[in-house]
Amino acid sequence: MTQTGDVIIIGGGIHGASLAFHLTRKGIKPIVLEKDFIASGATGRSSGLVRMHYDLEPESRLAWISFNYFRHWTDVVGGESGFRRTGFLQFVKPEAIENLKANIIMHQRIGIPSFLITGDDVGRLAPSFYREDIELAAYEPESGYAEPSICTSSFLEAAREKGAQLVQNCKVNKINLSGDRVTGVGTSLGEFSAPVVVNAAGAWAGKIASMVGLDFPLDTWQHDTMFIRRPDALRYDHPTVIDFPNSMYFRPETGGLTLVGLEDDNPIGESPESDSETAKPGFVERAIDRICIRIPGMDQGSLQSSHGGYDGITPDQRAILGSAGPEGFYLECGFSGTGFKIAPAVGACMAELIVDGDAQTADIKPFNPQRFTEGEMLVGDHSYENIWR
Ligand SMILES: Cc1cc2nc3c(=O)[nH]c(=O)nc-3n(C[C@H](O)[C@H](O)[C@H](O)COP(=O)(O)OP(=O)(O)OC[C@H]3O[C@@H](n4cnc5c(N)ncnc54)[C@H](O)[C@@H]3O)c2cc1C
Repeated sequence: MTQTGDVIIIGGGIHGASLAFHLTRKGIKPIVLEKDFIASGATGRSSGLVRMHYDLEPESRLAWISFNYFRHWTDVVGGESGFRRTGFLQFVKPEAIENLKANIIMHQRIGIPSFLITGDDVGRLAPSFYREDIELAAYEPESGYAEPSICTSSFLEAAREKGAQLVQNCKVNKINLSGDRVTGVGTSLGEFSAPVVVNAAGAWAGKIASMVGLDFPLDTWQHDTMFIRRPDALRYDHPTVIDFPNSMYFRPETGGLTLVGLEDDNPIGESPESDSETAKPGFVERAIDRICIRIPGMDQGSLQSSHGGYDGITPDQRAILGSAGPEGFYLECGFSGTGFKIAPAVGACMAELIVDGDAQTADIKPFNPQRFTEGEMLVGDHSYENIWR
């Protein structure tokens, strides 16, 4: 028997969950279809960084609006987010200092607590850091990290309380059309019908788009991270950091751990079904070398664990948000390794676009799916170039 909903969302990651939550706040009853279990894709592997520092204003705006959810999660969504304030530092190479300054001015203009600080200030915030190469840095005292799987389940729990349906172990195999409109999907558990279908399938989004004949430049991106146990001498937490000079980011984790990820050598185009239970050979050694450059005392640390994950990536490394192809088909994908922290605002905007025809919470037009064919790739006014190299 065909099950019917107002909207079908393909994917039970943070984006499918946020959209479901926001749709139910507008009286819409979506069905979320997830081929495995919730947060089994990029979301469950995400490092969870929550910061507003981007070189593209529309992204900073989405992150800033989302920050209000992380800061007040229990009141706004219900349940928990695991948000932890650690402070955030952005380090750039000397040639990018003028862009760093300009981006901080942009952040301050839109209300983000973001400051230019000196290398000596960095030393006061993080005495264990090597900082001879840091003349100036950006500092966001309110930022930190949250727990992506917990955020996903609390979004979905709140959505289900208001009539959303979640179906796990349900793989979408085809999208049904009548003329030039979507009518539903065919799945491993049978047929589901709805006048709107949303592609929130993360690293699988290119495959879903091709089911309606769309050929988007949506690829897959693989990314490894590791947890290192800090030695006793470094037991106090440090801020969360993006460290462009060392092509690395890192943040503290409870239990005296530090999570480390690298910005280079993240393979593009692999199957998202590939093994990602452990990191690729050589990653851990490279990541240890880098973290020991920034925190020399880490050479006394020990490896706790490592793993990988897959996200969807676009040529300008920014999301695809909007409608394309048959009427009723929407895309909320292509988050290019940075989509967790903006998920609350993106879900609000996409719900507005689907229900009201236009997003009010923020301007998501720059992320329109047509930009690639129209040659309007997104680039920051004071760009740091692509984050993933
Ligand atoms: C290792 C790693 C670290 C990251 N760190 C950060 C970070 O620190 N900060 C940040 O902001 N972002 C980070 N990201 C990026 C962020 O995690 C992702 O952008 C975000 O989680 C994407 O969410 P999503 O819901 O779009 O995709 P996903 O979480 O991948 O969810 C998509 C879901 O769709 C399901 N699906 C796919 N095909 C089908 C189908 N045919 N039928 C039914 N279901 C289907 C999948 O099983 C999956 O669960 C990181 C990503 C990775 C991989």
